[in-house]
Formats: sequence, structure tokens, C-alpha cells
Amino acid sequence: MGIWFTEKQTANFGITAKVNKILVALKTDFQDLEMLNTEEWGNMLVLDDMVMTTEKDEFVYHEMVAHVPLFTHPNPKRVLVVGGGDGGVIREILKHKSVEKATLVDIDGKVIEYSKKFLPSIAGSLDDPRVEVLIDDGFMYIAKSEREFDVILVDSTEPVGPAVNLFSQGFYAGISRALKDDGIFVAQTDNPWFKADLIHQVFHDVKNIFPVTKLYTANIPTYPSGLWTFTMGSKIHNPLKVKEERFTEIETKYYTPELHFASFALPKFVKELTE
Ligand code: SAM
Repeated sequence: MGIWFTEKQTANFGITAKVNKILVALKTDFQDLEMLNTEEWGNMLVLDDMVMTTEKDEFVYHEMVAHVPLFTHPNPKRVLVVGGGDGGVIREILKHKSVEKATLVDIDGKVIEYSKKFLPSIAGSLDDPRVEVLIDDGFMYIAKSEREFDVILVDSTEPVGPAVNLFSQGFYAGISRALKDDGIFVAQTDNPWFKADLIHQVFHDVKNIFPVTKLYTANIPTYPSGLWTFTMGSKIHNPLKVKEERFTEIETKYYTPELHFASFALPKFVKELTE
């Protein structure tokens, strides 16, 4: 039978993956951290029993959380990632030549340490000269920032434990202050099957602050329900009005200019969460 890792996505439903080897299993100052070698998905980072990223399907999430806002902004130079300790979002940000500096603020240095060791294809860009890595609470870091960033990406864990403050209206107000006058922010906002209330709440909190507020989706097989959402708050630029010439050539496996626009077309039961 061997070892199987099961993520209970609700009290009554979950997914399970065959584990070839437990590479790391420890309790950090903030969360339970496991790195598992799985038969289907390669190495898998698990925090507090929730799948964070896997070698096989990580590109979907990291490309979609990064390239939709970065191509919506006309000339992103300063980018901030809150969370994102596995390094995947940073890798995608650096594909944009306009970016001069990308700052990553993750509360848990152990996530960065073990991602570098066991997820080199994902964490490999964290040592790039354009990258600044800070170990800090993203909520506190944002509270000290003022009109500094063109794009802010919130790549945090679920709104429990250390990330609970990262889904509050106060945090989104802080993000607005930390952004420049034409800044854009995107937060991962979970799935509409099991977290509809969260999506509805966050969307309306963001809409109270940002003139342009949109929801878009992507298919992520190892995340709860597989249908994942991202909430964008933008001070000026509209993601649906990006001109064709803005889409410079970058290497991707999921994101395309066509999908940039199509990802905002929502199933009816999801669109209703934004009304
Ligand atoms: N893509 C994943 C998802 O959508 O669930 C998230 C991956 S990333 C590893 C999540 C990161 O958020 C973790 O490294 C965790 O340490 C970090 N995090 C949680 N709360 C935080 C906080 N308050 N400030 C900064 N980072 C935080």
C-alpha cells in the first residue's frame, strides 16, 4: 500500500497522492512544513497539511498570478511579493525585462531554505541580483510602505494561521498606500466550490478601494477543486484593455495573451460572487 498524503480540502472531501519519500517533515516557528517526493507530481511542498506547490503543476499558478498583472501594467519596474517563499512567482516576474527590483517578503525563512534545496526548478531565481528577500510579516511590511511599488502580488497561504491578516480590508488599504498612483495588485483568492464566501468578501473589500476590480481563474489540479481564483485591484489600468503590442515574448507553459483575456470570462456561479 505504501505511504499516501491526503489533503482534506473540506471536512468531507480531499485529494490523496502516493508518496515515494518524505524528504522533510518539521514544525517551523509558524507552520508545519513537509516536502514530499510524490509519484504523480514530483516534489511537493505542504504547509499545515495543504498543498502549496508541486514540481509538475506549479507553472500554472506562478505564470497566472504574475503575468496577468505584469502585462496589464505598462512598465512595471518595482514589484513586491508577499509570501511566495517557494520562489515560483519571483521566477516569473524576472522574465519581464522592465523589472528593476523584485522584493519578496515571507514570514518563514524555512520555506525559502527547503524550497531552494528540494524545489530548484521553482526557487532557482531567489538568488538573482534583481531580487531582495526579506523574512518578515507581510502585514507589518505593507504597513510601513508608501507609494513604492508598481505591482504587488500576494502569494500567501490560506487565511488561517500566519496569513489570516492578509485577507483583511485593512491589509488591502495598506496595499493601496504601498502602490504607486497607477499600481496594480493581485491576491490568490482560493476556490469557488469550497470558499465562495471568502471570494465574495475579498472581492467587495477590494472593490471598495480600487476603481478597477476583477476576478480571473486558472486550472490548478493539486489545489482544492482545481478551479482557482485571483482577485485584481488596479488604480487605473484595465486588464481587458491591454494593447496587442504590450505582450512581449516570454517563455511560458500556460499563460498566453489569448488566455490573459479569456481567464476573466467566469462561469455563472463564480461571476455571481462578484455582484
Ligand atoms: N501558491 C500557494 C497558495 O496559493 O496557497 C502559496 C505558496 S507560498 C509557499 C505561501 C507563503 O505564504 C508561505 O511561504 C508562508 O510562509 C507565507 N506567509 C504566510 N503568512 C504570511 C505573512 N503574514 N507574511 C508573509 N508571508 C506569509
